Amino acid sequence: MNSDLNIIWSKVQDLIKTEVSEISFETWIEPLKLVSIDNNIVNLLANSIFAKDVIENRYADLIIVAFNKVTQKQCEINIVLSEDIPKEVKPKTKIGETNNSSGLNPKYTFSTFVVGSNNRFAQAAAMGVAEMPGYKYNPYFIYGGVGLGKTHLMHAIGNQILEFNPNSNILYITSENFTTQLVNAIRDQSMDKFKEKFRNIDVLLIDDIQFIANKKSTQEEFFHTFNSLIDSGKQIVITSDRLPREIDLLEDRIKTRLECGLMVDIQSPDYETRFAILKKKTELDHILIDNEILSNIATKVDTNVRELEGILNKLVATASLTNTPITLEMSERAINEIIKSTNKVISAEYIQDVIGKYFNINSADLRGPKRSADVTFPRQIAMYLCRNVAQMSTPQIGSAFGNRDHSTVMHACSKIEKEIKENNNTKAIVESVKGILLSKN
Ligand code: ADP
Ligand code: MG
Repeated sequence: MNSDLNIIWSKVQDLIKTEVSEISFETWIEPLKLVSIDNNIVNLLANSIFAKDVIENRYADLIIVAFNKVTQKQCEINIVLSEDIPKEVKPKTKIGETNNSSGLNPKYTFSTFVVGSNNRFAQAAAMGVAEMPGYKYNPYFIYGGVGLGKTHLMHAIGNQILEFNPNSNILYITSENFTTQLVNAIRDQSMDKFKEKFRNIDVLLIDDIQFIANKKSTQEEFFHTFNSLIDSGKQIVITSDRLPREIDLLEDRIKTRLECGLMVDIQSPDYETRFAILKKKTELDHILIDNEILSNIATKVDTNVRELEGILNKLVATASLTNTPITLEMSERAINEIIKSTNKVISAEYIQDVIGKYFNINSADLRGPKRSADVTFPRQIAMYLCRNVAQMSTPQIGSAFGNRDHSTVMHACSKIEKEIKENNNTKAIVESVKGILLSKN
């Protein structure tokens, strides 16, 4: 039944995917879990009350149509939250499937990691951890911006330990995945197994811990897992995009715990390191490319390693499609495309567009006269973002939103500002839209 449900759910998702924008899909549909289908009633698990509301109001019909098509029956849907799952909605998936797997990517090793002034300390400490897990630097906390090598270094520690000791029980997991497994365990009433699994690990690698902020029960369980592992001398490695104390909504006791080991940051690579990384990648992947071209890329792409890799991949793809060698002009074109998207101007229209997609409403309604709650709330958030992300003045914002009065704009901005402090849902929405606006792709 478990695999049947999985198949149905993935077919349904495929159908829905063709009907909604990518942002809506990722925000609302993808996080849903198909819990069970009982007498044509489809039970779907949402991760927040807010998500449940949005799905019931905007996506229910679409979801029902997709289920009808896939199951060839007349379905009804029932959106549930983990805390109110009734007993009869039985567990259909079990945790433990990843038990035998460490989740490590064998490509991310110390030997493929280029050391430069930006990451020297983080790499040295990582080697230290791998040599004597549980003794030195515990927990070991690596932080820094995206695409700078945190995940790579974390896997390198795991791979190295596994090489020294193939029997050691290592688990790499993202904090989101940790949350999912916890929610499943609660739903399945298999918390004992969950605890057993996480407390029997020798080395726990938790990636992107910032995502457990705002998730109460995850933090609670993480705290216990953390303490139990540290107390029994097991190694914990954690990454984050910022320092523990800068993660809002992370419990103080967790911040304190995280800060009691070693915290090291990774910075953006300098030119020499960027060049060395490109050189290394071309050697590892057997790519033929002139040093002059590599140097040009390393000079102009100075943001992060992921973008450097992106350019290389693009060049390799173009060269093989056109069946020509990689040229300087080709690389110039690829670089310009990246730079253009990085410097993308955040305009009011762009914000309205993203907000429209996010809430699955017509972005023109944000500029129009509608005053119903399903439009006013997104409109207020859009105004707030125009003020705080696009740095527009209140009169500018007013005119971008169908010539509204500047006092209306001020009211919207201060309302959202207040809500961000008091209401976690609003805060999460603003953060997530901001992330989309500021993302470079
Ligand atoms: P983060 O987790 O900090 O966002 P990743 O570890 O995912 O970044 O790194 C992004 C990509 O860049 C990965 O493919 C990784 O292998 C590569 N990378 C990052 N830093 C280095 C480095 N110093 N040497 C070689 N590759 C690197
Ligand atoms: Mg990462």
